Amino acid sequence: MKSWDKPHTVLTCKDCACGIANDDWSHVDYHPSSSEVMASIEATLETLGQLSHLEAVDVGGYYNCAVCGDVDIGSADVFVTKGWFEPTPWGFSGPGEAP
Ligand SMILES: [Zn+2]
Repeated sequence: MKSWDKPHTVLTCKDCACGIANDDWSHVDYHPSSSEVMASIEATLETLGQLSHLEAVDVGGYYNCAVCGDVDIGSADVFVTKGWFEPTPWGFSGPGEAP
């Protein structure tokens, strides 16, 4: 079982991993609807709770970032959540199973 296939883990893109690690979301400013995206990210982060970085992985395909919802390919970062999370508007990015 891959580390990001487990409950309590989520996959994020590199931008969001950097944002979580450094609280630096300046990359969102480049988004055409940055204020909406940032509001969505903040809501998602609140739902996810505290995130601890586990590892950087190569997913070997497409994945949805759990935080910004973007579809990305290849390298991702795995974060461990402190609790279960609700589906985001774009669906689960990780395992998303109920406990
Ligand atoms: Zn992201």
